[in-house]
Formats: sequence, C-alpha cells, structure tokens
Amino acid sequence: MKPKIYLIGGSRFNAEALLSFLREDNAEWLRTAGATEAEEMVEVSGRICYMSFGAKQSPRSNADYIRNLIDQGHESVLEHVSWTFLLTGVSRAFTHQLVRHRIGFSFSQLSQQYHEETAATFVEPAHLMLSPGALAAWHNAMAVSKESYNVILDSLKELNGSPGLALQEKEFKRAIRSAARSVLPNATETKIVVTANARSLRHFFDVRGSIPGDVEMREVASELFRLVQTEAPALFSDFALTTLPDETPILSRT
Ligand SMILES: Cc1cc2nc3c(=O)[nH]c(=O)nc-3n(C[C@H](O)[C@H](O)[C@H](O)COP(=O)(O)OP(=O)(O)OC[C@H]3O[C@@H](n4cnc5c(N)ncnc54)[C@H](O)[C@@H]3O)c2cc1C
Repeated sequence: MKPKIYLIGGSRFNAEALLSFLREDNAEWLRTAGATEAEEMVEVSGRICYMSFGAKQSPRSNADYIRNLIDQGHESVLEHVSWTFLLTGVSRAFTHQLVRHRIGFSFSQLSQQYHEETAATFVEPAHLMLSPGALAAWHNAMAVSKESYNVILDSLKELNGSPGLALQEKEFKRAIRSAARSVLPNATETKIVVTANARSLRHFFDVRGSIPGDVEMREVASELFRLVQTEAPALFSDFALTTLPDETPILSRT
C-alpha cells in the first residue's frame, strides 16, 4: 500500500476585492501574467507591507518578488496561503511523526475510538521485501495483531452491562475499542486531513523531505511538494525533487 494524497482545498485570492481597494487608494498594480492565485496572494501581502504599488512598484516579476521575500527572511508573508490535503494509505507511525509539526499545521485523523478497526489494513515498510524472513515475520505479526484485536473486541462485547463495564453505549464502545486498539501496530493504515500554510510546508520539506532511511516520509513529502508546486511554483522554486538509486523520491534544497 502506497500513500495517496488528495488536494481537497486551498486559499482563494479575490483579485477583484484587492483591485477595488487599490482604486480607492489611487494605486495601480502591475500584475505578472500567469501568476497563480496563491502566488498573487503572497505578492500582494508583501506589497501591502510597503504599499509598493504604482510608482513604488519595482519591475520584478511575481516569481522574483517572492524569491526576494524568501531570501530576505520575510517569510511570514507565506503564511497567507494554505492548502488542505487528505492523506490515505499512510501508517500511524508516519502520522505520529507528522503531527509533531505544531506551527501552521492542522490535523483531523481517523479515530480508533469512534471507528472500529476490524477491517484494518497495514502499510508495509520499504526494505522489508528485501528479506523473505523479515517479510514473513511482519505478515505474521500483522495477522496476530488483527486477530487479537477482534478477539479482545468480541470478548469485551460479551461483558456489556456487567459491573466492570456498566457504561452508556457510546462510552462502552469507546472503552472496548480503546482496549482492543492497544494491540494494533504502528503499521496500521490511517487517514488524516492536513491543512498547512506555505511557510510551514517549506519547513516540513526542509526537515522531512530528504531523510534517506525514512521512505514513507519522503514519499509523502514528495507528493505534497508535487501538488503545491503546481499550485504555486514560485513559493517552492528552491526545492528540487529527484530520486535515489532505488527510485524512491527525495526532496532537497537546490
Ligand atoms: C531526523 C529527525 C529525527 C527526529 N527524532 C525525534 C526523536 O527522536 N524524538 C522526538 O520526540 N522527536 C523527534 N523528531 C521530531 C522533531 O523534534 C520535531 O518535533 C519535528 O520535526 C517538528 O519540527 P519542528 O518543531 O521544527 O516543527 P514545528 O513544531 O512546526 O515548529 C516550527 C518551528 O517553530 C519554532 N517553534 C515551534 N515551537 C517552538 C517552541 N516551543 N519554542 C521555540 N520555538 C518553537 C521552531 O523554530 C520550529 O522549527 C525528529 C525529527 C527529525 C527531522
């Protein structure tokens, strides 16, 4: 199972509203043809800081303007654009690392208390396939874990209403699923909605995109990069996506 990422949302730039503001201020904005909504949002946010419109606007293109913002460390301007992604086919081990990113990220993840994992699937780590013995041990552990999950759930369901489990239905389910999920492994497949702004994504790409031994992380970082690069190439033009000799992707600064 491979990570699959859907871009399900993003910031809109309301050019009409901005132009209306500029008309009222008797200012003009020389727009770069072909700049995307996200790129224009960042450019305009930067220009507002200096009101560099009209005579005060330099002949820089949108891409050059954004490059200069980044080079100068004026990166808070990049926080005005964000995207929302749905990640599926990723492991809980991966999402545990992902949710450590506290700034400029928001998360909504599949619950193992509200969602029963009787049909759980597992994300096979890269490199396991290199060893038939390791692969067999892994498949065995997954099967035992899933079976144990179902045995625990079924056994505790039989105790519904007993003195130790006298809970209302919702809390009863939460209690028995909590007990059962404790045997599920890090490899359990999960789904998570992630919203991140451009500045935070750049930081994520920096610290997570090029770790040789973490294939799943590199795969997700690279796919996120592909998606946002289409949305706003100027915001990520200093990153390059290449592959390692084993054909897995790696994301690094140029
Ligand atoms: C190779 C690698 C190995 C790792 N190993 C471990 C590990 O063994 N154990 C472990 O627990 N974690 C580990 N991590 C996770 C790591 O410590 C971070 O929690 C994670 O990468 C998120 O990064 P961040 O804090 O920079 O991001 P964010 O939380 O998004 O923060 C972004 C930036 O905001 C600033 N910031 C955020 N919060 C604060 C704050 N409280 N005070 C001051 N500045 C702040 C910092 O500049 C930070 O870089 C590892 C990460 C990597 C990349």
